[in-house]
Amino acid sequence: MEITAVRGFNDVLPGDTEVWRHIEDNAFRVFSSYGFSEIKVPIAEKTELFLRSIGATTDIVEKEMYTFTDRHGDSLTLRPEGTAPVVRAYIEHKLYTNPVSKLYYSGPMFRYERPQKGRYRQFYQIGAEILGDPSPRADAEALQMLMRLFEEINVRGAELNINSLGDAHCRPAYKERLKNYLSGVKDRLCDNCLRRIDANPLRALDCKSPGCIEATHDAPSIVESLCAPCAVHFDKVREHLGLSGIEATVNPRMVRGLDYYTRTTFEITSAGLGSQNAIAAGGRYDGLVEELGGPATPCFGFAIGIERVALIIKEGGVYRKPLAVFIALGAEAEKKGIELLKAWRDRGIRIVEDFSDGSLKSRMKRADRAGARYAVILGEDELKSGTVTVKDMKSAGQEKVAWDLAPDRIAIG
Ligand code: ATP
Ligand code: MG
Repeated sequence: MEITAVRGFNDVLPGDTEVWRHIEDNAFRVFSSYGFSEIKVPIAEKTELFLRSIGATTDIVEKEMYTFTDRHGDSLTLRPEGTAPVVRAYIEHKLYTNPVSKLYYSGPMFRYERPQKGRYRQFYQIGAEILGDPSPRADAEALQMLMRLFEEINVRGAELNINSLGDAHCRPAYKERLKNYLSGVKDRLCDNCLRRIDANPLRALDCKSPGCIEATHDAPSIVESLCAPCAVHFDKVREHLGLSGIEATVNPRMVRGLDYYTRTTFEITSAGLGSQNAIAAGGRYDGLVEELGGPATPCFGFAIGIERVALIIKEGGVYRKPLAVFIALGAEAEKKGIELLKAWRDRGIRIVEDFSDGSLKSRMKRADRAGARYAVILGEDELKSGTVTVKDMKSAGQEKVAWDLAPDRIAIG
């Protein structure tokens, strides 16, 4: 019997891997221009790390973790997100001796969710964390960096929603108000939210069941319950976003699915993905480092969902495969082709040669099926004049281009 992949775990095949590489390469380039360095953390951690950081009464911990006992009897969990492992490494390697650490990572995360378009059980995130910076300008700068990345990779129509969850001073009072409110609409809440009213009432605002969305429509707003320092922080974030020309909508219902957030939280959505429309999310987590045994350290971080961003880029048709197929006609052209292809590849052009025999027409068809944007043809005439014919597979237009100008012609197309 044929063995297939595990449900919710995907292969990423050529055609998609180019888009993924494009996203990662641009993210790494943009992040490093803001002073971030890469960190690589393990895929599995001690289960306790996630219990203590994400929160015992969150959906992730209650029903989505891949937890197993290894041969030694230790409980391990495949990481459902990247922030807790990065914070664990930050503490373990005493990175806090630096005034500020700016780190990014990329890799797979694991959550036992219901697989559907844009939602998988193994999915990939690119994330970034700023550890050691309390300033609202750090929040705004990270958001600006993210919006810049989306602009550069042509993710159009990305919308930024922000909120503040307050801190240890003002959130308890808000939780009480919310609890009281929820107690009044108990009969309309789902079982899950009902059960968590006392332990974690905020979760009801994040619940996707239609009944809970309706029942919490008039719930008290967290933004109106902020203490003065939290309110000032939130105002400053918005002010700095404004100075960077970034529009943000305040959404007081957006509480996020992880318990460690304090103050600023955000989500970036993009139309065209259906209900799985969040492409990046994150916020401030000023208490987490201390909670996990390190010194008090204010932090801000986020993660981007690579699958969803890749879907948008592909569906938008914005990403063009920078791929050309080279067709040599005759033995002399084949020889010259070896030299030309080397020179063009040295200049970064992604070009493959078609080695098949047959008519030019059938070879052109093969180039088209391969998804090439251009066919580059070297025949007798071209050999004589030191040119190639560059044929645009979309417009069917073609022109003769000198050998050393061909890479530029293909690259800008
Ligand atoms: P959602 O509300 O869509 O479940 P989330 O709040 O669980 O998202 P985070 O944990 O903040 O998401 O992760 C950040 C990003 O990672 C999301 O905005 C999304 O793009 C992506 N992501 C999260 N879970 C999945 C998944 N199961 N499959 C694919 N991408 C995901
Ligand atoms: Mg989720």
